[in-house]
Amino acid sequence: MHKIDINLVEMTLDVMKYTIDRVSNTKFDIGIPKKAEELKALVGETITPKGVGGEYAFDMWKKHLSKAVVPIDHPRHLAFVPASPTRAAIMFDLVTSASSIHGAYWMEGAGGIFCENEAMSWIVSLTGLPEGAFGVFTSGGTAANLSAIVTAREHWRENAVHKTQRGLIITSSGAHSSIKAMAKVADVDILLVETEDVMSEEGLQDCINSLSKDQRERLFAVVATGGTTNAGIIDGLTGIANICEQENLWFHVDAAYGGGALVADSVRHLFNGIERADSITIDPHKWMFSPYDCGAVIYKQPELAKKAHSQQGSYLDIFKDEGAHGFNPTDYQIQLTRRVRGLPLWFSLATHGTNRYKEAVERGLELAQIAGKLIENEPHVELVREPSLSCVLYRRIGWKPEDYTHWTYENQKSGFALVTPTKWKSGNTYETVSRFCFINPDTTEEDIKLILESMK
Ligand SMILES: *Cc1c(COP(=O)(O)O)cnc(C)c1O
Repeated sequence: MHKIDINLVEMTLDVMKYTIDRVSNTKFDIGIPKKAEELKALVGETITPKGVGGEYAFDMWKKHLSKAVVPIDHPRHLAFVPASPTRAAIMFDLVTSASSIHGAYWMEGAGGIFCENEAMSWIVSLTGLPEGAFGVFTSGGTAANLSAIVTAREHWRENAVHKTQRGLIITSSGAHSSIKAMAKVADVDILLVETEDVMSEEGLQDCINSLSKDQRERLFAVVATGGTTNAGIIDGLTGIANICEQENLWFHVDAAYGGGALVADSVRHLFNGIERADSITIDPHKWMFSPYDCGAVIYKQPELAKKAHSQQGSYLDIFKDEGAHGFNPTDYQIQLTRRVRGLPLWFSLATHGTNRYKEAVERGLELAQIAGKLIENEPHVELVREPSLSCVLYRRIGWKPEDYTHWTYENQKSGFALVTPTKWKSGNTYETVSRFCFINPDTTEEDIKLILESMK
């Protein structure tokens, strides 16, 4: 018989209260990281044979550890790609944990996977991919890109000629670091079209034309970017789709960051051509207001992913039986045991409706335009390029790289804001510049003004 543990009840209430406070609080500081030794000195030994107790451990979390993290949803966190999970999604993340669902196979996870698939159908509808296209939620864009590259390579290797060849993919130098990293994992070579700006049909064709006979034989995929992480630039997707069709190459679009903007009428046309992709990466934990971690990989022909990723094992055979009829997410990406990480997104979409998502993404795009105007009107700063999607690159006139770094750390130390510098290539040289990336619809014009003023 279960004994009701009073301490456990209290701990549960404490955790719920903390969580509710955290999600309803809109005024919190940007946290400051501390060195591991400093944190150790503050909290002491926490893993001991007898345990220090939940109350003490939670106290240490509240007093010290939670203050050494940067809340990614702070309205003045405009660095990297921030995030802004909805309260509905966060609360349902707790439900997802509490429900202990194994999300690999329909046999165990049916109810949860059903919800994920409802959310996925909406995401797929945004891409315009043809009937039959579908996807799964992954731990992030990196895992999604890897799953897609492996699927593409396995499909290419179905042709006996390629069985023992080492594959080659082409992308641009503006592509995300994970493309290069995952090419390593998949053990394929990668060639870069040298541009951080739009990778065009011509640029790609020139690159293919310059390949040696051996390289051309090994080339099996092109990775275009649907919103570069650094500058929000979308490659010439229609032109790239044309080439991939002519040359018989797999066409992957990495829209991990930009994919959320597919819902926004004002910029949807920039993604034209994405509907011809063989696979697409979109991160709901970036611009679809999901908590970490939640990525997605979508395939035009999911059965090709299944051929590449379906795992075999005697103890897994049961899942292939009639009784397990349904969609098995493990078959379409690299992971077996998985959290039903699309479930919080489903609940949030169901709660708010897709129109609210459209409005929230449009607000991020609008904030980038507002920032652009403010920068144009201030004499101490200037735009490096027009805002693209929700990314704004601008320079503080007269600043050296170390000035940007110093300014970033001062802002973080005072709990005011997190805005980090990046590099932008103009001509042959890289210039250090400042960068905003807007996701959080609660960021205000006033926030942007204050940040720009702090550069005076
Ligand atoms: C963020 C990002 C990734 C990597 O996604 P993770 O979720 O961090 O693994 C890949 N590609 C692009 C374009 C990104 O912006």
